[in-house]
Amino acid sequence: MSASIEKGISVLKEVIDAPIASYFSSCVHCGLCAEACLFYTESGDPKYTPIHKLEPLRRVYKQEYTLLGRFAKILGLSKPVTDEELEEWKPLVYDSCTLCGRCSLVCPVGNDIVYMVRRLREGMAISGHAPEGLAGASQRAVEIGSPMGVKLPAVKAQMKHVQADTGIEIPLDVVGAEYMVLMSSMEIINFPEYLAAIARIMKQAGKTWTLCSEAFEATNSGIQIGVSDIARVLVQRIVDGAEKLKVKTVISPECGHAYTALRWEGPNLIGRPYSFEVLHILEVLDGFRNAGLLKTSGFEEAKLTFHDPCQLVRRGGVLEEPRRLLNLVAKDYVETGDPGKMNWCCGGGGGVSAIEEAEELRLTAFKVKKVQLEATGAKTLVTACANCRIVLEEGLEHYKMDIPVVGLTETIAAHLTAKE
Ligand code: SF4
Ligand code: SF4
Repeated sequence: MSASIEKGISVLKEVIDAPIASYFSSCVHCGLCAEACLFYTESGDPKYTPIHKLEPLRRVYKQEYTLLGRFAKILGLSKPVTDEELEEWKPLVYDSCTLCGRCSLVCPVGNDIVYMVRRLREGMAISGHAPEGLAGASQRAVEIGSPMGVKLPAVKAQMKHVQADTGIEIPLDVVGAEYMVLMSSMEIINFPEYLAAIARIMKQAGKTWTLCSEAFEATNSGIQIGVSDIARVLVQRIVDGAEKLKVKTVISPECGHAYTALRWEGPNLIGRPYSFEVLHILEVLDGFRNAGLLKTSGFEEAKLTFHDPCQLVRRGGVLEEPRRLLNLVAKDYVETGDPGKMNWCCGGGGGVSAIEEAEELRLTAFKVKKVQLEATGAKTLVTACANCRIVLEEGLEHYKMDIPVVGLTETIAAHLTAKE
């Protein structure tokens, strides 16, 4: 057997675990997952069906772990997976999957296709087939502390600007604060209004909070590239920061995958429970609302609609909180088609927005969102993930649609009563 074939087979054998084996063996080839995937529905190209994206992994599973597959391999009826084939598959495993989970939700036998794609990504990354954009982001996240290379001085500069704008001091490294606030690089660089909103909301609610100089970044490129070791290092950094500051709650920012990575996967990644609670900012705001600590006045004049970030809503379960919050400030709120857990992805999650080569396909996949947004007649699009926000802005710009995209936290903060 050539070295190329051996390498291809051995990396994929490594990532086939019990759930993967049971998912492949229970697939009834119904094709329902295909109709759920925006890359297939919007391109019409069968190579983008979820189950086809997993083909190298399926073949190794069959050839190595089933009797019929072994015979087929011996008789030369099923060809072995090579390293070259994995390279060819790169655009299918990375560029055309946002890990949005829509396919997993519709599968009648409960196959978690997102998990399967992530395991395949793990094999691809280990064998050197991850896209450059994601590999670079992961390296920067581990070495510098942020996938976009943001360092503490940039955070401090933003703190200074926000302090000047709001007149509120931004706390850093306060031991014993109730909340530790995380941000995504995207918010630090592109959306300083998020930090300003937090400062104003916390002041009105009368809560103590802090940023952490050793762990300010929430995003987890280890999850996107599919390498658990990187994901673990990034989660551990936040855990160490939160435990050092002895905070009660860590607030995940307006970022979808950061929330699922930290809240739902983090304890398994580091092998122990946290000594603090993790909440998404919208859960915190909804809790404040419920406790009468979020006092707003006035309404948005424009017709609003909401884009559900997949990782937050479908995968993370934060479904009703954004709607209750929107109702505080929206006079005219309209849902898109397929709202909530069946919402269509923006097309740039799961690391896709960091892959330059994926841009054209991403904009093709955006067509479903475009049509749905047009049908609402909304004048402003609200969301709760900085990555979705950038991808939505690019999609709207591409299709010449003049709809501003705003974050929900800043929208709420804009309506705080003067008492804050
Ligand atoms: S997770 Fe989303 S993007 Fe990926 S295959 Fe499934 S439906 Fe398509
Ligand atoms: S929906 Fe589930 S059972 Fe049907 S083809 Fe997809 S993975 Fe297989």
